[in-house]
Amino acid sequence: MYNAKAYSAASATSPLASTPIPRRDPGDNDVQIEILFCGICHSDLHQVRNEWSEAMPTVYPCVPGHEIVGRVTSVGSAVTAFKAGDLAAVGCMVDSDRTCPECQAGQEQFCPNFTLTYNFPDSHGTAPVTYGGYSDGIVVDEKFVLRVPPNLDLAGVAPLLCAGITTFSPMRHWNVSKGKKVGVVGLGGLGHMGVKFAHALGAHVVVFTTSPNKKEDALRLGADEVVISKNADEMKKHAGSFNFILDAVSADHDINAYLGLLARDGNLTLVGAPEKPLAISAFNLIMGRRSLSGSPIGGIAETQEMLDFCGEHNITADVEVIPIQKVNEAYERLLKSDVKYRFSIDMASLKA
Ligand SMILES: [Zn+2]
Ligand SMILES: [Zn+2]
Repeated sequence: MYNAKAYSAASATSPLASTPIPRRDPGDNDVQIEILFCGICHSDLHQVRNEWSEAMPTVYPCVPGHEIVGRVTSVGSAVTAFKAGDLAAVGCMVDSDRTCPECQAGQEQFCPNFTLTYNFPDSHGTAPVTYGGYSDGIVVDEKFVLRVPPNLDLAGVAPLLCAGITTFSPMRHWNVSKGKKVGVVGLGGLGHMGVKFAHALGAHVVVFTTSPNKKEDALRLGADEVVISKNADEMKKHAGSFNFILDAVSADHDINAYLGLLARDGNLTLVGAPEKPLAISAFNLIMGRRSLSGSPIGGIAETQEMLDFCGEHNITADVEVIPIQKVNEAYERLLKSDVKYRFSIDMASLKA
């Protein structure tokens, strides 16, 4: 074991602060990565503040971060896919059992025995729980390390590892492609990636937003049309016309208004998670044989496919780069949606 530099929270109410953390020495199958950038995901904030205490109580100290990109510093003797000096990325998972039907199908995100990148029991026993990417380095089994296309801006690559795959995966599953009409509800960290992917996949993209001042940005990101969702007349014009709608809103909202916009066999997928149960009108689903589903991240192979797609289409997240010393401030701004569209921590600041 060795010590790495990190930012951690000591309790649900303490700010993140600089602390050393233990990392394991790379084993035969491990890749050791110097972290260059780590994105800030809203789940980081929930986890740090123990807001998911029922499902995933936070173990302190907590080192969040699952949007990791960096450079390989060393590899174990059995590693074949990476060598020192390569770019590398790590997302929300660092391991799984690899034997269950989900793992066999390449759907590790549904493995009942996966290991999440932080706040998850550490099977290596390096610490009580796994520690995430708000750190200068991490050691991960090569099966869970992704390759990064060399042409992309690394600060903007980091958020692809959660916000990117979370929006890309359902679009692939529901066959978003040329000739399809696709809606994206909510233009935040997730939504702005949804717009970029839907556009690059060739769909006709309509962004729904409550704020008229987001219109220009939506068009810049790749939207063909922008609908102000509070305007009932504007909404009505699109009734029954969408093949797929990605709903990236985590605040309470009227989902029936969107279900009614789906065409026959259209699907609405939730990637945002409102706190309260949603009220669904059954007729909205029955008429038109519409479906409603949800989707988490993607498997490792699909995450690699997403990164390669981003390399081909020159897609990264729109980020505001911050030094790690500003992370607590960034959390407060995140609560006000005051970021376009994701914070990316420049880990060089951790050396300061
Ligand atoms: Zn995330
Ligand atoms: Zn499994």
